[in-house]
Amino acid sequence: MSAPAPGAAAGDLAAPPVVFRQSVALLAKNFEYASPEHGDVWSFDFEPLAERFTPGQYVHFRLEEPGLEKPVRHISFASAPSEPCLRFCFHLRAQSDFKQALARLEPGAAVTLFKYKGAFTLPAEPPVGGAVLLAGGIGIAPFRSMLRELQLQGSAASWPWPALSLLHVSREGFLYEPELAALPLAQRRCGRADFAAALEQQVQARPEALYYIAGATGFVNSVRQELLALGIPGDAIRLDDFEGYDEL
Ligand SMILES: Cc1cc2nc3c(=O)[nH]c(=O)nc-3n(C[C@H](O)[C@H](O)[C@H](O)COP(=O)(O)OP(=O)(O)OC[C@H]3O[C@@H](n4cnc5c(N)ncnc54)[C@H](O)[C@@H]3O)c2cc1C
Repeated sequence: MSAPAPGAAAGDLAAPPVVFRQSVALLAKNFEYASPEHGDVWSFDFEPLAERFTPGQYVHFRLEEPGLEKPVRHISFASAPSEPCLRFCFHLRAQSDFKQALARLEPGAAVTLFKYKGAFTLPAEPPVGGAVLLAGGIGIAPFRSMLRELQLQGSAASWPWPALSLLHVSREGFLYEPELAALPLAQRRCGRADFAAALEQQVQARPEALYYIAGATGFVNSVRQELLALGIPGDAIRLDDFEGYDEL
């Protein structure tokens, strides 16, 4: 039996040798470039990872600028594991020392990524009702990772496009809209005012689906409550709570 990964908890000893849901590896990655998306939202691209994460997971992202009081944030992978670059998406809030340090990154600068994990992932095979992906603002990031991976897998993908629906709600722009709109899954984008009706339509169309919700804490909690009120059972709801965001 191979040795457990450094820092693995005792309960991990029985895990299979390839651990997709958790890794404690320390990975230094070089920054390549940042692209403006809308408002203060930016995508940051890095050299690709040698290790394979699962779409929907997040990583501990550490900036190496000296003197930064809180240099680590949890950040979702916005890129797919099969993509040739590693991408993350950030809202560069002026009030955040971390985000301002991020904005100062020079091409070639190293950041440290460690302990990528999370169970906000699609099952290997689609359940009967498929899945509905509900994104608030930059909560679209983990869904971009999932959908781009399915696109790159092509005919080898275990999820057919009709098994998936996407509903993206945002106050400003719709992040990654051009590339996601080109994918052949049912998808809709709307503002908060139209969201309740759009959600109800999804529930009527897919009462047996798994529901994935990603975004700010307030968004994730309120959508979960709306789904429960519409009759979706709690065990069919998956959450990716971007803690630390008041709103997206
Ligand atoms: C699973 C997961 C995935 C995530 N994925 C992403 C992602 O893909 N992209 C991303 O950007 N973030 C993501 N986050 C959130 C991320 O970890 C940070 O919490 C978030 O980006 C806020 O960081 P910050 O440096 O801007 O705020 P922080 O400085 O950490 O502040 C946190 C809190 O304090 C408040 N605050 C801070 N400074 C001020 C101030 N001056 N005045 C008033 N209020 C203030 C903020 O509003 C916020 O409520 C994710 C979180 C989790 C748990």
